[in-house]
Amino acid sequence: MFQITINGNPVTTHDGATIFEAAYEDQYARTQFDTDILSLHYLKGVQEKEDSGLCIVEVPGKGIVNAVDTVVEPFMVVLTKSEEVRRRQKEILQDILKHHDRDCRNCNRTGNCELQDVQYSLRTTKNPVTEAFDAVPVRADGIIVRDDNKCIRCGRCVAACEKIQGIGAIKMEGEGLTAKIVPSKGETLIESGCVGCGQCITVCPVGALYERDDVAAVLEAVRDPEKYVVIQAAPSVRASISEAFGYPIGSGTKGKLAAALRKIGFDRVFDTVFSADLTIMEEANELVERIQNGGKLPMFTSCCPGWINYCETYYGDMIDHLSSCKSPQQMFGAMVKTFLAEKEGIPAEKIVVVSTMPCTAKKRELGRDYQNAAGVPDVDYSLTSREVARMIQMEGISFPGLDEEEFDAPLGIGSGAGTIFGATGGVMEAALRTANDWLNGEPQNALDFAEVRGVAGVKEATYKVGGLELRVAAVSGLENAKALLEKIRTGEAQYDFVEFMACPGGCVNGGGQPQQKAKVRMINDIRAERAMTLYHLDQHDSLRKSHENPEIIELYDTFLGKPGSEKAHAYLHTKYQAKGE
Ligand code: SF4
Ligand code: SF4
Ligand code: SF4
Repeated sequence: MFQITINGNPVTTHDGATIFEAAYEDQYARTQFDTDILSLHYLKGVQEKEDSGLCIVEVPGKGIVNAVDTVVEPFMVVLTKSEEVRRRQKEILQDILKHHDRDCRNCNRTGNCELQDVQYSLRTTKNPVTEAFDAVPVRADGIIVRDDNKCIRCGRCVAACEKIQGIGAIKMEGEGLTAKIVPSKGETLIESGCVGCGQCITVCPVGALYERDDVAAVLEAVRDPEKYVVIQAAPSVRASISEAFGYPIGSGTKGKLAAALRKIGFDRVFDTVFSADLTIMEEANELVERIQNGGKLPMFTSCCPGWINYCETYYGDMIDHLSSCKSPQQMFGAMVKTFLAEKEGIPAEKIVVVSTMPCTAKKRELGRDYQNAAGVPDVDYSLTSREVARMIQMEGISFPGLDEEEFDAPLGIGSGAGTIFGATGGVMEAALRTANDWLNGEPQNALDFAEVRGVAGVKEATYKVGGLELRVAAVSGLENAKALLEKIRTGEAQYDFVEFMACPGGCVNGGGQPQQKAKVRMINDIRAERAMTLYHLDQHDSLRKSHENPEIIELYDTFLGKPGSEKAHAYLHTKYQAKGE
C-alpha cells in the first residue's frame, strides 16, 4: 500500500491499481474529498476500458493521461480538474451532445443518467449545443428497444452480452459517434440469438436501451370498469424498487409496494411468493418422482424464462432435463384465471393479470404456447420493476410516504422459501427444504443450505436427503451456465438437480431492475445487497417451507388435489421445445 494525492488529498492505494481505481477504492477519500474522475464507458467487470476521451487527469511531469489505462506510482500527484483537463473534457462533451438527442424531459433515464452527470460536472448550460439534431427512427425489436439517438457508443451492452452472458447477440457497426448497435446475425435480435435477458439494458449509462413499455396499456385496463385487473409482485422486486425512489440499495419495502399498487387502482394486489411456493410443490414433487422412478437427471429448474430461451436456443439436445413446471409468474396467472375465477365467480375472460417482475424475458414468456390454463393467456402484461416505479411516479404517489400494507388473500401468503427465489441458489434451497421433509417422511430441522447461497456464478454441494446423496448446483449468468452445461454434456460434472438463472446473481440483478450507475456499481455489489434483504425476510418469517404455506395447503385440498395430479399438470405444467422443432 502507498499514498498518492488526488487534487491535493491523500489517497491510499496499492501496487498495480489504475488512477481510476485508486480514486474510487479508497472509501475515506471518496466520501471525504472530491476525487471524482469523469467517465462514460468504464464499468467494472463488464467494460474495463474508456475510449470516450473524458476519463482524463493531469499528472505533472507526464501531462494528460487516461485514468483507466494509467497505473499509479508511489507519491504520484493527480489533478482531475485542471484547466487543461476541463478544456479537453468540454470539447469532447460538446461533440457527444452534437450527436445526441438532448430531449431529457421525455427520456426514461432522466435523473438517473450518466451523461447528465457529466453535463452537470462540466456545466454545459453555460455553453449549450444549439445545433438541431436529426433523429433516426427508434427500433423496437421484440421486447428490447434500441434508440440510436441516445446511444453514446460506450460498448457496455456489447460487452455484457458477450462477456457476462456469453451470447454475443449484438455488435457495434461503424465507427465513432455515428456507430450503431445492431444484431450480430440476421435482421432481428431474436434471429441473432438474443434471449431477452435485459442485461444489456441494465448496464447502459443512458436512455439508449430499454424494454417495451406496457405502462399505458396496463393503466388503460385499470381504468376500464369492464375489466377485473389483478397484479402480482415478484419476490426480488421488494428488495429493489425502492432504489427508484432514492432509498439505499437493497432497502426492503414489501408493504409500501403493496400499498402503492393498491393506490394505482388494481382490483387485487397479490404476491408472487405464493406461486413461488406452488412452483416448489410441483418441482420438488417432479424431482422426487424422477429420482424414484429413474427419470432424466439432472433435472434443471424452469422458473427463469431467460434461461429457458437460452436452453431452447443453444442446448436443444438437453431440453428433457428441464422441469416441466411453468414459471411462478405463469403459475400465478393460471391460478387466478381458474381457481380464483371459480371461487369468486368472475369469468376468466374478464380478468386481466399483470405482473411486477425484475425481468425483461418475462415479457417474452407471455407469448409462449401452452401457457393458457383457462383457455386465455395465463398472464396479460408483465411489467419490469422500472416500469412499475415509473407508473407509481406517473400516478403522483409518494412512495416514501406510504404506510405498509399486506397483500390480498388468497394468493397473497408466501413463505420465506418462496421469498429467496429472487437470489441465485434460492430456488434450490427452497426445493431442498421441501424435498428433505418429503423424502424423510417427516419435518426436518434443516432450513439453511448455506453452500448454495452467495453471489458466486457456480455453487455446488452434496446433501444427504432422506438417505440419498443429492448432488446439486446453482448457476447464474449464462456464460457460467454454458461452462457447466458443457461439463454435464461430457460427463465431467454429475448432478441430480441444477438451478439455472440467466442473470448474474439471479433475479435481484435481473434485466428489469432499477439501473445503478457505474460509479455506484464500482463500490457496491448490488447482487449481494439486494439478496441480503431477501434472506433477512426469510430469516424473520415464521413460515419458511413452501409446503407449510396454509394457502398452498388449501389450494391442493380444495382445487388441485395433490402435487403432480392430473389437474396440477394441466394448469401448472407446460412444454419446452428446442428452437426449430
Ligand atoms: S440519455 Fe440522458 S442526457 Fe440523453 S436525453 Fe436521456 S436523460 Fe438526457
Ligand atoms: S437481452 Fe440479453 S441476450 Fe439479448 S442482446 Fe441484451 S444481453 Fe444480449
Ligand atoms: S446502447 Fe447504451 S450501452 Fe450500448 S453502446 Fe449505446 S449507450 Fe452504450
